[in-house]
Amino acid sequence: MCDLCRASSDTSDHLFLLCPFDVDLWHWIGSIFHIQIDTSSLAAILSMCSLQWSPQIKSVLASGIVHTANTVWHCRNFCRFQYTWTTMAKAKARIKMGISMSGNLSKLCANCSHHDFTILRNLNVSPHYNSAPVITEVLWYTPLPGWNKINSDGAAHDAPSHARGGAIFRDSPSDFLGCFASYLNIKDSLYAELRDAILAIEISHNRGWNKVWLECDSMNVVDIFKDYASKLMQSDAPNLAPDAPDLTPNMLGQMHQTWADASDLLGQMHQTEQPW
Ligand SMILES: [Zn+2]
Repeated sequence: MCDLCRASSDTSDHLFLLCPFDVDLWHWIGSIFHIQIDTSSLAAILSMCSLQWSPQIKSVLASGIVHTANTVWHCRNFCRFQYTWTTMAKAKARIKMGISMSGNLSKLCANCSHHDFTILRNLNVSPHYNSAPVITEVLWYTPLPGWNKINSDGAAHDAPSHARGGAIFRDSPSDFLGCFASYLNIKDSLYAELRDAILAIEISHNRGWNKVWLECDSMNVVDIFKDYASKLMQSDAPNLAPDAPDLTPNMLGQMHQTWADASDLLGQMHQTEQPW
């Protein structure tokens, strides 16, 4: 005989799903989360945790389900072995205390919504919010008429580790010309930055784009290109402004050849990149 209702046999289904005592508790938990909990089976109850909610709310709901089942079992045993009836208010207080203790140990984050805030406050759980994103203004300048612009980038997960990179090409009206992405195997970030800048120059040369502006976020790559361009200007094109090296067909051809040699020294190129 069920010790909680004295009206039915003491089966697991009755004790945790059907007994009026815990049906009231499930309804109460559902009202806190503004949902109707399906108590037809334990799987149906746990399926409530898969709703499109924030990670912290899902975690707190899972904690609520566990503590509710635990409290039902506790009340049943308390009644059976100590002959003491636990009131509904005490059972709810016990569940709330358990949810609060479990919820405050979690590092999962809630949404910045009134829905999440009211649920967590009701259960004495401190809301955790994601840090505000850092918004950085980035200006992209169009190249001069007749020029094309390359934006290249490369990165490695560690030094060295899996490295990737790529570049995007646009003309002076900012129209998209093409792009590529490459996997570079286990390399460091400087290799990735330099390797894709070299490949971008090669592609520009092969397509006859003789006036290109290469932009990347690696000062090492910029210094390498500037140093080489200044040497070329001293020997072949002394009239060019040093701050804005114009890669003439002759210079571009020489740079292409030199960087092709350099890329051989840097290592064998991976074959996964697919420009255009
Ligand atoms: Zn019962």
